[in-house]
Amino acid sequence: NSDLILHVNFVLVNMESKQRYIVKDILGHGTFGQVAKCLVSETNSFVAVKIIKNEPAYYQQALVEVSMLHMLNQKFDPDDKHHIVRILDYFVHQRHLCIAFEMLGSNLYELIKMNNYKGLSLNIVQMFSKQILHALIVMKDAGIIHCDLKPENILLSTRVKPPEIKVIDFGSACMEGRTIYSYIQSRYYRSPEVLLGYPYTTAIDMWSFGCIVAELFLGLPLFPGASEYDLLKRMIEILGGQPPDDLLRDAKNTSKFFKHVGSIYRLEDDEAHNGVTSAYRVLTEEEYEARESKRPKIGKRYFNFVKLEDIIANYPYRKNLPEEEIDKENLTRLALVDFLRGLVEFDPGKRWSPLQASHHPFVTGEPFTCPYKPPVETPRIPVIHTVTVDHNPGGGHWL
Ligand code: ATP
Ligand code: MG
Ligand code: MG
Repeated sequence: NSDLILHVNFVLVNMESKQRYIVKDILGHGTFGQVAKCLVSETNSFVAVKIIKNEPAYYQQALVEVSMLHMLNQKFDPDDKHHIVRILDYFVHQRHLCIAFEMLGSNLYELIKMNNYKGLSLNIVQMFSKQILHALIVMKDAGIIHCDLKPENILLSTRVKPPEIKVIDFGSACMEGRTIYSYIQSRYYRSPEVLLGYPYTTAIDMWSFGCIVAELFLGLPLFPGASEYDLLKRMIEILGGQPPDDLLRDAKNTSKFFKHVGSIYRLEDDEAHNGVTSAYRVLTEEEYEARESKRPKIGKRYFNFVKLEDIIANYPYRKNLPEEEIDKENLTRLALVDFLRGLVEFDPGKRWSPLQASHHPFVTGEPFTCPYKPPVETPRIPVIHTVTVDHNPGGGHWL
């Protein structure tokens, strides 16, 4: 096992600054290591320390996480207003790269679970959507693609009321224009262009964001694909239509899923797709499956309706919804569907940008009267930002 063996009162030390972190609890295990709740005695406060496995691939990837967060925190969000986790420190302890973050609370998947998978009120969904969009706006400006946006990677902040959330886990993030990996994003939140093997941009995070918004409302994932083929089939059923022809023509994996009949692309039949599995960079297939199976197994179709519009409109009302609020609820649901349509849009070129989405009535709370037409966005010449990190931090030595 390449995880550091921890126990209560185990002390992690940054050898350079002499800062000590006293382990008090384990907050989570991930593929990349463990996250511990640690006490900083001087300030009597807690921080979350991600302790990376002592293997070179994980170490290198974690340095990417450090550099991306440094850039986002310092250059793009110095006043901590954009709902992105703060990085506090990083160092090497016994060949394990350790990253200290501000201490946060439950993740949104746990919140959904605590609510018995019944979904959250539209008020809360609206509030969280707005906050996640704040993070996505900054990430797009920085040219950073998160690549693993999902409820598990959005955490509640424990300090403030009304509830605040923060985006975490930049361990899979990459720079736009430097997209080297093709197997990215957790399956339920994977965009059509990644699935099909087409060049991708920050728009893939907007797809995941749409899936998350729907899941917050429904309490269940919108596209719980058991395989990549199953995922694609669900998208096509629920959304109607399919990815645009030029995407299908140019994507690397189209023939894995589609038959080309004359000039028409048709999704292959079920029979051709028993046991399609998907991979994930740095994870082995076993690790990947173990991770995905952390969620409860759900049957093939569990909504009573197929089309997105019907699923949302006919979803049971919350028990405590007052009679007089039903009209407003129905109208907000229409706004939600219109919002989702701009996000879970097959064509990455037509999918709304975070800024465009942030002006939608569902987010702003303005009355929803007609389908939203986003303001035209002038394409910006991408600036590649770079931040250098010390590859041998905290006085430690790696190999
Ligand atoms: P994955 O395998 O899902 O990619 P990971 O190994 O990259 O995960 P993170 O997602 O960064 O690791 O963290 C794993 C878990 O640890 C989170 O889902 C969360 O429950 C907990 N955690 C991470 N950061 C914090 C924090 N700042 N405060 C509190 N808990 C945290
Ligand atoms: Mg994670
Ligand atoms: Mg991760």
